[in-house]
Amino acid sequence: MSNTTTPINEIQPGQTTPAVNGSNSETLFSLENLCKVFRSDNVETTALNNINIEVKHGEFVAVMGPSGCGKSTLLNIVGMLDNPTSGAFWFNGEEVAGYGENKLSEIRKQNIGFIFQSFNLIDELTVRENIELALLYHKVSAAERKERAYNVMERMEIAHRANHMPSQLSGGQQQRVAVARAVVARLHLILADEPTGNLDSQNGQEVMEMLTQLNKQGTTILMVTHSPAHAEYARRDISLFDGEVLTENLKKF
Ligand code: ADP
Ligand code: MG
Repeated sequence: MSNTTTPINEIQPGQTTPAVNGSNSETLFSLENLCKVFRSDNVETTALNNINIEVKHGEFVAVMGPSGCGKSTLLNIVGMLDNPTSGAFWFNGEEVAGYGENKLSEIRKQNIGFIFQSFNLIDELTVRENIELALLYHKVSAAERKERAYNVMERMEIAHRANHMPSQLSGGQQQRVAVARAVVARLHLILADEPTGNLDSQNGQEVMEMLTQLNKQGTTILMVTHSPAHAEYARRDISLFDGEVLTENLKKF
């Protein structure tokens, strides 16, 4: 995927939906004094403690920190897969922290794509079907689903594997399918939880180049990584420790 100049999707920097109620229309989402406490039997775990983070439209932010510091919990809350225990979560000018599952899933489907360390493809579906699945919620005709899936597979250089099952692909190819699935619906925000964690350095670098290209076209990216080299692709990095923001670092390119 190196040196390609073909756009992966067509969101342009100025094209994202502006905030309506938030204080700043540049803000895609913000977490204010956000806490997440897991309670099971008699054990309480504070996974996130008083987090304040603001991410603007078009940013590329890396989240770093040791295992167990709350990175995945943070991504799950931003991705509306989990609710915070307290604090505010503004998304596109809406305070969504208290929303129920139906409303959250509606906002999620319209706005957020996920890339996971373990690819999370559906084993029983072909590559093309896995990618098309991401368009089912988007009122796209069957013919257009097929065309868009093929376009994105070509850009990810997996079109020749369209009818294969995920188990027949290498890890690098599976993650390309996952990236294709995350971008085919042209969403505003990609959340990536250690997307290169199961890849060798060559495939890892290629995934980072795909994410960089997407970001240049206007997609906001929040990415958890353990790799300082991969965090370098981001414009800003946030270090967590014990559920708190330890440092924030804006890089000059
Ligand atoms: P990271 O992704 O940085 O490794 P996590 O966000 O997965 O960290 O976990 C943060 C803390 O919250 C850890 O102590 C973890 O054990 C705890 N935790 C995460 N998910 C749950 C859960 N569903 N139930 C109970 N504790 C959890
Ligand atoms: Mg994690």
